[in-house]
Amino acid sequence: MSCCSEPIAQKGRLTCPACGQRCLPVSRQTMLHQIQAPKNQQIHAADYAFCANRTCSTGYVSLHKVIPKSELRAFQPGQPAMLCHCFDISEATYRTALGDGTAAAIKAFVIQQTKGSLCACESRNPSGRCCLGSFQKMEKAHD
Ligand SMILES: [Zn+2]
Repeated sequence: MSCCSEPIAQKGRLTCPACGQRCLPVSRQTMLHQIQAPKNQQIHAADYAFCANRTCSTGYVSLHKVIPKSELRAFQPGQPAMLCHCFDISEATYRTALGDGTAAAIKAFVIQQTKGSLCACESRNPSGRCCLGSFQKMEKAHD
């Protein structure tokens, strides 16, 4: 990687060197659970962030290292694009549900589990974050 393609830290966030999108910080725990073995045994302490751009090859990025999505468990060939990693709801499933009127029940289920602290976003979601915002984005896109 040349010095020019090094990601630039901005207010605690990182910019993806491949797509230029802002990446949000991610915890080491999330990375340990997302990166395939044996590479997850070689994560050194650093501030990493996740590139949420589905079409970008970057998975996690620090000031000195890029870990590609191809090394992450959630982005293996044949795996559907997931909306809710905790409860196994794909984007395609929710899109269909938005069309046939069953989306509200699915979302209510996820919200109920989240309220009961039964979600596992930090381990299951490559971003380490709650997926409910992604539900809202899909709902807006559907309107
Ligand atoms: Zn990117």
